[in-house]
Amino acid sequence: MYPKKCAECGGEVRVSVEPVVVDVRGEQVSVPGIEHGRCSACGEEYLSLDAAEALQREAVRRSKAARGLMSPEEIRTLRHSLSLSQAAFEKLLGVGPKTVVRWEKGTVFQSATADRLMRLIAVEPGLVDLLQGDALYAVAGTCGVSRVAEHLSGEWHSRPIKRGHLRLVKRDDNAAAA
Ligand SMILES: [Zn+2]
Repeated sequence: MYPKKCAECGGEVRVSVEPVVVDVRGEQVSVPGIEHGRCSACGEEYLSLDAAEALQREAVRRSKAARGLMSPEEIRTLRHSLSLSQAAFEKLLGVGPKTVVRWEKGTVFQSATADRLMRLIAVEPGLVDLLQGDALYAVAGTCGVSRVAEHLSGEWHSRPIKRGHLRLVKRDDNAAAA
């Protein structure tokens, strides 16, 4: 499983479950309990591919837990419990494409805000319907609507600007229209 002799120094390689230190986003994370080969002379570590993946997974989990963030596995479990695709979950949370993919891989950490939103949804799954529906957004849509002023048959009228109908008018066009 491991080389008997260290490739670095020729020393004897022994099986070890001592902590292995990994770099996670510039932070040194110590992970115990991952079986690996360790050179008794220079300390060089030899990991199987499976062990390396387990090490990475556990290092990310520990690093996120220290920040109070849900682990990639917890995020995936939550998403599955809601029967949402990664894309649908991204839309629900208002984050960009591939964001949830990266959270679940552990390559990107979610913000504290996204983490709290996910925890709220975990506690109260009914929030999914609320977030997907129009109720939250209808309120925002009806207040603060800009109006366009028109001079019609000697009187000024104003009406709401329809969504998608707003366009910039060049100064010259305005002058020509006046
Ligand atoms: Zn060695």
